[in-house]
Amino acid sequence: MKNHFDNHAMNKLRSHLFLLSLTLLLTCASFAQTKTENVILITLDGARTQEVFGGLDLDILKDKTRRGKVEDTALYKKYWAPTPEERRMKLLPFFWGTLMKEHGSVAGNRSLNSAVMTTNKMWFSYPGYSEILTGQAHDDVINSNDKTRNPYPSVLEFAKRKLKLNKNQVALFGSWDVFNWIGEHEEGAVTINAGHEPYELAASAELKALSKLQNERLSPWDSVRFDYFTFRFAMEHIKTYQPRVLHLALGETDDWAHGGDYAHTLNSFHQNDQQFKELWETLQSTPKYKGKTSIIITIDHGRGNTIKDWTDHGEKVPEAQYIWMAFISPDVSLRGEWKNTETIYQNQVAATLCRFLNLDYSENNPQAGKPVARLFSK
Ligand SMILES: [Zn+2]
Repeated sequence: MKNHFDNHAMNKLRSHLFLLSLTLLLTCASFAQTKTENVILITLDGARTQEVFGGLDLDILKDKTRRGKVEDTALYKKYWAPTPEERRMKLLPFFWGTLMKEHGSVAGNRSLNSAVMTTNKMWFSYPGYSEILTGQAHDDVINSNDKTRNPYPSVLEFAKRKLKLNKNQVALFGSWDVFNWIGEHEEGAVTINAGHEPYELAASAELKALSKLQNERLSPWDSVRFDYFTFRFAMEHIKTYQPRVLHLALGETDDWAHGGDYAHTLNSFHQNDQQFKELWETLQSTPKYKGKTSIIITIDHGRGNTIKDWTDHGEKVPEAQYIWMAFISPDVSLRGEWKNTETIYQNQVAATLCRFLNLDYSENNPQAGKPVARLFSK
């Protein structure tokens, strides 16, 4: 009887242990086994939530139309429709019609009670990108757009080290030259090509010519090249080196807006949308990327909400702290717009990017924002 009891107890203990180890195994497995092997971070400098969620802003167009009727303008004909949903579809047809419908979701439409905010109080580019790439705001240190080395290691450097990647496999292509200073705290750690810098890694004759051309077809801005060049170099890099972590940093949505040029601002949105399409199609036709790539699309800062200050941003411009964030991932089943959700923050991008890759970003910076929980809750 005693023996029998002992055996019974032992068996019970064994089955408990078995269940416990099974639970542990499953818990670990559900953390470890994302399908994601590559991450692409896309930023559109200062691309307002107003246009992303509502398309053409009629008040701005009216303000900009000096002569004749607003209805006769090319912008109205191209981008106007009665509802915000129809308007944004005209502005960003691939983003709304394909990406957000079939493959991903987007947070930041405040009319649906979803908000995304910066935690920095600067609301301009260097602080925004640094918050994205390091996972933390440092308003006391990072408070200008000057070309000074980022004192904090970036998620690009962290991912390269943890995944034991070579320099070409972690790359940042930016239209703005200051990315050379923001993107890495150790100079030369990762591939950065920004501003009017030649793309030395270009393999094809066509891209070599294009690299030269960017300095013969200068943009209107000293420190920013046209997104066209940035995008072409990034695409060439994807095809040649198949990077596992890529930051594509496009900039024209900010620069045209600063100049008050609403036509070029909207057309830049539209061009960026076509670039999303080309990038997406390339990923789908490349075995290394198809079904294994997560994409985060976001912005460094918002802008003003009125006809007086839509051109501007910074701490004195109300509402410039509001941004948006889209997630496209084989590991996330959310689709369309977020509704009635908690506010998420710019300082969560680095940790979310790492979480897709099964890396724990708190190893790099324990103070950084955490991965966006909603993406990973089953
Ligand atoms: Zn700006």
